[in-house]
Amino acid sequence: MLTKNDPAVILTYLEDSSNLKGGHADKVLIPQNIEEVSSVLKEANSKKISVTISGAGTGQAGGRIPFGGLVLSTEKLSLIKQTRKLDKGGCVTAEAGVPIKDLKEECDRNKLFYTYDPTEQTAFVGGTVATNASGARSFRYGPTRRYVKGMKLVLADGSILSLNRGEIKAKGRVIEFRAEKRSYRFDLPKYKMPLTKNSAGYFAEDDMDLVDLFVGQEGTLGVIAEAEFRLPEKPKGLFSCFAFFADEVSSWDFAQHARKAGPLSIEYFDNNCLGLLREKYPNVPVGARAAIFFEDEIVESENTVIGKWGALLSKKGVLLDNTWVAMNEKARGDFLEKRRYIPERMSEMAKRSGLPKVSTDLAVPDNKASEMMLFYKDNLKNSALQHFVFGHIGDSHLHVNMLPADPGAYEKSRKLQLEFVKKSIALGGTVSAEHGIGKTKTGFLKLLYGENGVKDMFTVKKALDPNLILGRGNIFAV
Ligand SMILES: Cc1cc2nc3c(=O)[nH]c(=O)nc-3n(C[C@H](O)[C@H](O)[C@H](O)COP(=O)(O)OP(=O)(O)OC[C@H]3O[C@@H](n4cnc5c(N)ncnc54)[C@H](O)[C@@H]3O)c2cc1C
Repeated sequence: MLTKNDPAVILTYLEDSSNLKGGHADKVLIPQNIEEVSSVLKEANSKKISVTISGAGTGQAGGRIPFGGLVLSTEKLSLIKQTRKLDKGGCVTAEAGVPIKDLKEECDRNKLFYTYDPTEQTAFVGGTVATNASGARSFRYGPTRRYVKGMKLVLADGSILSLNRGEIKAKGRVIEFRAEKRSYRFDLPKYKMPLTKNSAGYFAEDDMDLVDLFVGQEGTLGVIAEAEFRLPEKPKGLFSCFAFFADEVSSWDFAQHARKAGPLSIEYFDNNCLGLLREKYPNVPVGARAAIFFEDEIVESENTVIGKWGALLSKKGVLLDNTWVAMNEKARGDFLEKRRYIPERMSEMAKRSGLPKVSTDLAVPDNKASEMMLFYKDNLKNSALQHFVFGHIGDSHLHVNMLPADPGAYEKSRKLQLEFVKKSIALGGTVSAEHGIGKTKTGFLKLLYGENGVKDMFTVKKALDPNLILGRGNIFAV
C-alpha cells in the first residue's frame, strides 16, 4: 500500500474535468490489491472516516473530488487479469485502474470489440463502470452496463463481494444477498427510470440483477476492484465518415434519416464546434456550418456500404465534395483524434478562464429530439453566451457547453442550464445520460425523481454503507 501525505501530491487528486473547486483530503491511499482495499475500508468504517474513490479523474461531475477524509486511488489496481475467447466474442477481466486505452488494445489483440468506447481514453475501467459511461458507438451497442458480466467489489465495511450476472436477482423491488458474514435485505427505489440513455442515480427496475445496482453507483456503494466484460467479435471492417453541411437544420434532418440506416454511431457538431476544430485543422471546409460524424460496419464489401450511404449523402445541404471518409485504422484514428479535440479544447479553455464550464448531459426520447434542439438553439441565440453544442445526436443526447467569461455570465449559464434540465424532464428525458450526478448535479436528481425518489435511493445507501463513509456528497447532497 502506498500512502501520500505530501500536500503537493494530494492536490493532484482534488480535481477532475468539472472544475469543481474547494476539494481537500488528509491523505491518499493507493492499495495494490483487493485485500488492501478491504483493509483501508475496514479501518475507515470503524473510525467513520469518509473515503472518496478516485479513478483517472476525467469525470465531469466532481465525483472523485474529496471534501475531507481520505482518497482511495485505484491507480495501482492495473492488471488485465484474463482474456477468454468464446463462441462469438469473448470476456476480458480487468482491474479498476486499467486505462480504457489499454483495455481497448487488449481487445484488439484478441479480435474483440470494445463496443461503447467512451471518448476519453485515459479514463479507468472502474470509473467507466461506476458512472455507466457510454460513447459514440453506444448508439448501436448501448452503455457500459450492457457488457458488465461480473465484478469484484469491496463494500463499506471491508467485506469482499464477487458478483456474476444472473446469480442474484431482486424479487420485484426487494433484494437479498450475503457478503462474507453479513446478510443484506432492502427495498430498491420505486421510481420509473427515463426511457433514454441514463446515468442518473441508482438503477432500479423489477427483478433486476444485483450487478446493475453497482454499475453507475458513482463510488457511493462500494469500491469496484475489478470487472469482467462480455464483448462481441470485432467487425470485419468499419466505415467512418465526417459529413459537412451548409446549414444546421440539414444536418439534423440527415441525422434523423441516418438513424433508420442503423449505423454504429451518429455524432453532431454545431457551427461553433467547427470553429474550434478549424483552429487546429484548417482543412475543415470553409462553407460548413455543421457536421455529422458516423460509423458503420462493413458487412459485405466497402462498395456496399458506400452505396448504402451514398444516397443519404446526396441529400440537400450536404457538402458532398468535402465529405471525409475513412476505411482503415490510421485514417479512423485521425478522425477520432479530431472528435476528441473538441471536448479537450473546451475543458482547456474553461481551465484557463478560471470559471467552470457549464454543460448539460441530457437525453430525451427520440420523438422529442427536435423540440429539445430548437429549445437549446432559441435560448442560446438570445443569451449572447459563448457556447458549443455537440454529441450523440443518434441517441437524442447532446452536450450543450457554455463557457462563461465573467461571474455574471456564469450565473446566466447556470440559469439556462436549469431551464434545459427542466425541459428535458418535461419531455420524459434524463438529467444525466452518461456522466453521472457526482457532486454538481444532486439538485437535478431531485427534480427528476422527487424527494421520495432520493429517499428511496438513500435507503439503499444506508443499507450498504450505514456510516455513510463512501463517496460523500455524490448523488446525495451533504
Ligand atoms: C475530454 C473528455 C471526454 C469525455 N467523453 C466521455 C464520453 O464520451 N462518455 C462518457 O461517458 N464520459 C465521458 N467523459 C467523462 C469521463 O471520462 C467518464 O465519466 C469516465 O467514466 C470517468 O472515469 P475516471 O476513471 O476518470 O473516473 P473518475 O473521474 O476518477 O471518477 C468518476 C466517479 O466514479 C467513481 N469511481 C471511480 N473509480 C471507482 C471504482 N473503482 N469503484 C467505485 N467508484 C469509482 C468516483 O468516485 C467518481 O464518483 C469525458 C471526459 C473528458 C475529459
